[in-house]
Amino acid sequence: MNAILISIGDELVLGQTIDTNSAWLSQQLAAIGCGVLEHITIPDDQSQIERAITNSISRCQIILITGGLGPTADDLTRQAIAAALGTPLVLNEPWLDNMKQFFARRKRPMPQTNSIQAMIPTGARIIWNNHGTAAGIDADPVSPLFPSPSASFGTMGEGEGLSSVPQKPATSQPCRLFAVPGVPKEMKGMFADYILPILRPLSSGAVILSSTLHTYSLGESAIAELLGDLMDRTRNPSVGTTVSGGVVSLRINARFSTLQEAQRQLAATVEQCRHRLRSLIYGQDDQTLASVVADLLLHPPTHFGPGPLIVATAESCTGGLLAKMLTDIPGSSAYFHQGWITYSNDAKIKMLSVDSQLLAAHGAVSEPVVAAMAQSARQNAAAHFALAISGIAGPTGGTPEKPVGTVCIALASGTSTEASTHLFPGDREVIRDRSAKTALNLLRLQLLKLH
Ligand code: AMP
Ligand code: MG
Repeated sequence: MNAILISIGDELVLGQTIDTNSAWLSQQLAAIGCGVLEHITIPDDQSQIERAITNSISRCQIILITGGLGPTADDLTRQAIAAALGTPLVLNEPWLDNMKQFFARRKRPMPQTNSIQAMIPTGARIIWNNHGTAAGIDADPVSPLFPSPSASFGTMGEGEGLSSVPQKPATSQPCRLFAVPGVPKEMKGMFADYILPILRPLSSGAVILSSTLHTYSLGESAIAELLGDLMDRTRNPSVGTTVSGGVVSLRINARFSTLQEAQRQLAATVEQCRHRLRSLIYGQDDQTLASVVADLLLHPPTHFGPGPLIVATAESCTGGLLAKMLTDIPGSSAYFHQGWITYSNDAKIKMLSVDSQLLAAHGAVSEPVVAAMAQSARQNAAAHFALAISGIAGPTGGTPEKPVGTVCIALASGTSTEASTHLFPGDREVIRDRSAKTALNLLRLQLLKLH
């Protein structure tokens, strides 16, 4: 079974509203083994909507439209469906009555414009909406390939990979079209109550299961090189990469005919990725660098004795961002008690006892100074570890020796202090973000060594 999703709205193509409907629907369809061939996003333009429907009819088994079913002049989906189907709109009395009651309950007269919402293409069925006045439409379009569609359509075939874009086989049944309002709450309710119960029995039992592994510190191409043949485009489960916020994520999708097989194959590929990337992978699915670090601090190896490990922070250019990331995690007070933001040299001297001669000799952005900051923070907070960051976030303040993006990071532990210098590309926000994440990652790698 495969589907094409059509999202309609000027606000979507203008970039004012993000098309979250298609993302949600794709996930729901994947769960019943329905491959999504395309997401089409178009404005509130009748001829464009009509063309998108006509073009899709012969290429998929399910067309799922969201948006454009409101009562105003820019809501043109129902007219476009009627035109694409070649049938006039007719009044649906039950929905008109329902709308009248809807307004009566609110003690308001029903505006005349709302009556258009009770019009549906001849031969189509109403999809009931329990949360608004826009009913949905369930129709059987006549494909040019299939001039006389039957009302039913049987079990769909499987084997449509995510990466391949199969055309509808000439022997398959006509496609079915569902249109629901764009309001996410209404769309979700109508999909769950009406559309899903229709589609689920048509599913061949095939499922698409997904998992995401997150890495930090190497770029996308370096990760791809390490993954090698695992990223082969014909592979199932497939492995693809995406980058966001310096995090390179592996997206693994397994499409198989049974849930058990999909689970088994997905787990096997996750294991193969882990084997190739080892500690480069910091987490899976919803895990963040901070949540993984928190977990490692909260659950130290038994030879450390009971209770969590404590980390302290001393930040200059990140202005508390590292402490924020650490304390974003509920229960963080168990492993984080205090941190320092020492922005000026004076603050570094007064609050962290950094030697003024050290500052004069090396500058605030230097490995000896961050090492001193980390050691003092660790001692003052009676912590197991301390992270310190000092750098040039820009856009001003760079020099030929220390350009914007130069950041020194230190990690002090009971046995040693390690300081390193990094050069992060990007603007002020990116440099600060990467500085804090790199510090978290250094702590994570250190904590892994304890296990
Ligand atoms: P409509 O059903 O076209 O009247 O859409 C009503 C509202 O739903 C719009 O104003 C948007 O805020 C929201 N909306 C419409 N389409 C989408 C979409 N694809 N994703 C997320 N929100 C949407
Ligand atoms: Mg709209």
